[in-house]
Amino acid sequence: MRAMIALLPLMPLLAACGAIPQSRDQQPLRQSTAVFSPRPEAQQCLSGLGQTKASFTPLPDQYYGAGCSTLGTVRLASLRSDNAQLSVSNLGPVTCPLAQNFAAWARYGVDRAARQILGSPLQRIETMGSYSCRNVAGRDRLSAHATANAIDISAFVLADGRRISLSGQWASGSAQERRFLTTIHASACKRFGTVLGPNYNAAHRDHFHLELSRSAFCH
Ligand SMILES: [Zn+2]
Repeated sequence: MRAMIALLPLMPLLAACGAIPQSRDQQPLRQSTAVFSPRPEAQQCLSGLGQTKASFTPLPDQYYGAGCSTLGTVRLASLRSDNAQLSVSNLGPVTCPLAQNFAAWARYGVDRAARQILGSPLQRIETMGSYSCRNVAGRDRLSAHATANAIDISAFVLADGRRISLSGQWASGSAQERRFLTTIHASACKRFGTVLGPNYNAAHRDHFHLELSRSAFCH
């Protein structure tokens, strides 16, 4: 009986531990009545991402105003290739479906191309980030980055230490390095609706913009 009484004051605390981690008042801005509670399709995506053996943390939904939000996003710690873990640098929140496509592209598109064309496995993908509350450069419409639905990729580091960057090797790398970059650009176009690279415009001279969209816009 004494044990029961001793436990009673703890009960609200225990209940709180089991609560949904993100309460409304923790959100940066309340623009919606939605709270963090992964929907069934979101759970399905998270489990699919888990099956790629990616290491990640689901993030609570957040609204930042001006149409900017991170809904159904994860923070990726690492991805998995056929044979090894792949690290990813400088990446913020990404939507789960984008993360899934990114994981598949890294494994089947980038790592395999690195081994076949450059003779070394991929070790790390360097990015210039994902979420950013901003417009498309020079336009008055929101970028896919404003909803964490795009990733900017700047370089690839191989297990043998070579670093293949868009700014360095796209235009002036060796024939093999350029073939590697054009090959993975083409494979990205099969997996992401919108892919923009150095051939598109000067704003993309140093990165691939990978965006999950319904359009097929590959440049
Ligand atoms: Zn971008």
